[in-house]
Amino acid sequence: MGLNYAIDCRACGAHSEYHTTIVVRSKNTHLHLADHVDTECAIRCPVCRARLNNSVAEFHQQVTISLSE
Ligand SMILES: [Zn+2]
Repeated sequence: MGLNYAIDCRACGAHSEYHTTIVVRSKNTHLHLADHVDTECAIRCPVCRARLNNSVAEFHQQVTISLSE
């Protein structure tokens, strides 16, 4: 079980994806994670290192989170 992040970087136009493994404590965990975007710890484009989460709105414009089995 994990999360897939599909990134469409506004700064360089690159499309990239990465995968994280999470410990699921409840069936709603992924919904919580998708709703809670940490804007203090920078999430960056792996190609150009542009910061993707200056705000929650910017994050959602550039990153799509989906749950994988
Ligand atoms: Zn980029």
